[in-house]
Amino acid sequence: MSTRSGSTEELVVRGARVLDPCSELDALLDVRLSGGRVAEIGECLRGVRELDADGLHLFPGFVDVHAHWRTPGREDEEDIESGSAAAAAGGFTGVVMMPNTDPVIDRPAVLGGLVRRIERESGVRAYVAAALHEGLKGERLTEMRLLKEAGAFCVSDDGLGTQNAGVLRNAMLYAKTAGLPVILHCEDHTLATGVIHEGIASALAGVPGSPASAEDAATATALILAAETGARVHITHVSTALSAALVGFFKRQADVTADTTPHHLTLTDDLIGSLEGMWRVNPPLRPEEDRAGVREALGNGTLDFVATDHAPHASEEKELPLEEAAPGFLGHETAFAALYTELVLGGKLSLRRLVEAMSCAPGRWVGGLGSISAGAPADLALVDLSEEWTVSERNLASRSRNSPYLGKKLTGRIVGTIVGGELVHDRIGAAFGVRA
Ligand SMILES: [Zn+2]
Ligand SMILES: [Zn+2]
Repeated sequence: MSTRSGSTEELVVRGARVLDPCSELDALLDVRLSGGRVAEIGECLRGVRELDADGLHLFPGFVDVHAHWRTPGREDEEDIESGSAAAAAGGFTGVVMMPNTDPVIDRPAVLGGLVRRIERESGVRAYVAAALHEGLKGERLTEMRLLKEAGAFCVSDDGLGTQNAGVLRNAMLYAKTAGLPVILHCEDHTLATGVIHEGIASALAGVPGSPASAEDAATATALILAAETGARVHITHVSTALSAALVGFFKRQADVTADTTPHHLTLTDDLIGSLEGMWRVNPPLRPEEDRAGVREALGNGTLDFVATDHAPHASEEKELPLEEAAPGFLGHETAFAALYTELVLGGKLSLRRLVEAMSCAPGRWVGGLGSISAGAPADLALVDLSEEWTVSERNLASRSRNSPYLGKKLTGRIVGTIVGGELVHDRIGAAFGVRA
C-alpha cells in the first residue's frame, strides 16, 4: 500500500553523480523533482529550492521486499515509525512488511487497520504481505481475495515454511487466481532441527545444526510447484549455492524471482564460534562455499535482488546462548554500506549491479519503483561513497540493537533519502544547503 502522496514543492538536486542502471544513467546531472515525481533530468537545471549534492551519488531509492516492523504486537522492538525511519536511514524508500505479527495479518479487518496506520505513520512507502495460511500454520488458506481488497500487496507465511506440498500447491493456485504474488520462506522443518548450519562450525561449537538440505529440499519443492501452477512466486533469503542454482534452473519454466540477504552475502558460520545468541538467524549463516555461491548468483542475476529480512529483536531475546536466542538481524540501516564495503570495494560485485539489485530489480518486482526517469516517483537515495563510519548502538534509528555489524567500520553512507519528493532522512541537515 502506497503511503506517500508526495511533496508538491519543486526541488532540484544539483550536481550529483546520478547512477540508475534501469535508465542507463551514469553521469553528473541535475534532477528536478515536482509534484512528488521526477520532472526533468539534465544539466544546469535551476529551481526555487535547490539541494547541492556535489560529491555525492544519487541512486533510485532502494526497495526492500522483506521486513519485519513488528506492528502490531511487538512495538517495543519496532513500530511503523521506527521501522520506516530505519529504512530511510538505509536509503530504502519502499518496503514490504511481513505478516508474522501478533495478531498475524491473516484477516481483512486486521490488514485494513494496519494499512490505515501505515498511511499515518510511515515515512516511506510500505506494502503489506498478508498471510498465505491462517495463523501461518500451513493448513487453512486465508481469504486472499478479500485480503487483496483490503490492501494486501502479496501473501507469505514468512518465518515458517509450508510443510505439506499439497497445501502449498493449493495456496499457489489460489494466490494466482487472486492475483497476488507469493513470497516463500523455504524451510523443511523435519530437516531443520538445529539452530545453526550443520557443518564444521557447528561440530566445533557443539551446537545442533540444521543441514543445508532443509532449505534446498523446500526450495526444490516450491520451484517445481511454481512451474506447474504458473503462480508468481518469489523465493526469499536464498542462502545456499544449491538453492541459488535451483532457482537458475527453474527460471526458464516458472514465473519465479529470488533474493538473498546482506548477511548471507557478507558473513559466514565461522562467527558462531563465539556461541553468542546474536549470530542466530534463519536461514542460518552458511560456510564460505555457500556465501561464494550466492554472491555469484547475485552477480549474474540468477538471484534477482537483495532483501534485508530486517528482523528487530529486544536485547533480552538476543543476549542469550545460541540455542535460546530469537533468530534474526537488523538489516535496513547497514545493507548498502555492508555490501558496498565487502562486495564492491572487495572487487566481487560492480557498483552498478549492487544499485540495480537494491533499487531497479526489487522496484520492478513491486511495480513502478526503482528508477530515475521523467514521470517516475521522486524516490531517491543520496549517498556519500567516501564516508567511513562505525556501526554503533547509538547511530541506529531502529528500536532494536541486533545488528550483526555492530562495531564494524563500513564505507559508504546514506546521507539523504527522498520519498515522493520529500526529504525523509537528512543526516547532515542544513549542511545540505537547501536554498529557499
Ligand atoms: Zn524467513
Ligand atoms: Zn523474515
